[in-house]
Amino acid sequence: MKKIVDSQKAFFRSNQTRDVHFRINQLKKLKNILKENEQDLYKSIYSDFKKSSYETYVSELAHVYHEINMACKKVKKWSRIKKAKTNIMNLPAKSYVVPQPLGVVLVISSWNFPYMLSLVPVVSALAAGNTAVLKPSELPESSSHILAQLINKNFNPEYLKVVEGGIPETTELINQKFDKIFFTGSIAVGKIVYEAAAKNMVPVTLELGGKNPAIFTENCNLKTGVKRLIWAKFLNAGQTCVAPDYVLVHKSVKKEFLKLAISEIEKSRFSYENSNYVQIINDQHIKRLIRLMDQMQIHYGGGYDLESRHIDPTILTEVTFEDHIMQEEIFGPILPVIEYENIDAAIAQIKSKPSPLACYLFTNDSTIKNKFRHEISFGGGAINEAVMQFINSNLPFGGIGPSGMGSYHGEYGFKNFTHYKSILDRPTWFESNIKYFPHTKAKLILIKKLVE
Ligand code: NAD
Repeated sequence: MKKIVDSQKAFFRSNQTRDVHFRINQLKKLKNILKENEQDLYKSIYSDFKKSSYETYVSELAHVYHEINMACKKVKKWSRIKKAKTNIMNLPAKSYVVPQPLGVVLVISSWNFPYMLSLVPVVSALAAGNTAVLKPSELPESSSHILAQLINKNFNPEYLKVVEGGIPETTELINQKFDKIFFTGSIAVGKIVYEAAAKNMVPVTLELGGKNPAIFTENCNLKTGVKRLIWAKFLNAGQTCVAPDYVLVHKSVKKEFLKLAISEIEKSRFSYENSNYVQIINDQHIKRLIRLMDQMQIHYGGGYDLESRHIDPTILTEVTFEDHIMQEEIFGPILPVIEYENIDAAIAQIKSKPSPLACYLFTNDSTIKNKFRHEISFGGGAINEAVMQFINSNLPFGGIGPSGMGSYHGEYGFKNFTHYKSILDRPTWFESNIKYFPHTKAKLILIKKLVE
């Protein structure tokens, strides 16, 4: 691992990545490689968890292509030197900010969207002029292999390299002297990464998870809201970091909410054959999810098959915040529904929990929308929609507190992997004696005048 990092450091020092045209060419090359090998990418991910080519394109590759296109179009502008005003004490002078790549970065990704969560941070890192080592999750084995195969065959390893592996390999990597670590995964492993990085003073971005609430108020468009919620929850069989984890629904609309939710699930006919459902990633995760389902609370669904790692879309009712299922991120196709009577009490309940990665509000009430915007702390979210905020690259994506630190997507991704170097540039034709000895009363009066 050290050799890989050292060789990337040497390559970075050669200044080749400072050239914006070089970056654009490399990004275009990455896109071409992905396009040329799309069929193999589809095959690999299908063998990992039966993700269809349709869903792989829509929920993974489309976003990668979009980010590459945006970076190629905007990177010249993003990397331009930015003028800043000069303060009066420094006049005459020019002040400016020079965007500078960080150096050699490590991207560690999770398994649930193996292509998108690996490649989007890499695109941002390369656009910003860094070299990168990518460590995809080992759980979707074939997806990890194909990424390694395509990238390692086509890119100079001193510039971009995929390292495959699990805990031992990642442990070795996070102890190297990278210039940045970008980690997507669980809170527990996020802490390990953060601690290892701190030892080498390596800055980190942590893209973690949490329990994302969705609130349905009495005054909402229930039909459209439920349709959007059900799609967002069962996309990728609930294995989505921004999926609604649980629903808080007003008592007066709960019955109708449940009726519409069941009807929507049935209409959607979630199945591998219909290209809109995937397997649970492995045996350990399906067993964990089954343990979370309290048989007494199953309102709809609840069926599963261990062999094919399948869990039916499931709705739980009569759930309380004390229940087992409310103590951890579900990350699967189980939707607990909790009723509330008073919106302020419901908001207070959310605020008493760790800040989630996402939060969703379904309402037509502008007062409640304002409370949602200003009173609840969460990474990002949506009003009358769920999950779709993720694909708007003009919005920063990231968590807060336990759901993560730092953000990316679009220009925010570029900024994440950039140091903004400030420079004060003074001419020599003018020199004021104000800062120099002797420290006279008159000088102090003048300084005070200028400052205050
Ligand atoms: P994970 O933390 O188990 O694994 C993430 C990465 O860390 C993998 O590459 C894995 O190989 C590595 N890893 C695992 N254990 C390690 C250890 N002990 N030491 C060093 N490295 C280790 O997470 P996961 O199961 O892949 O992903 C699920 C979690 O990720 C969920 O909590 C989900 O919410 C979160 N997530 C967040 C985002 C986001 O963008 N914020 C996106 C997807 C998933």
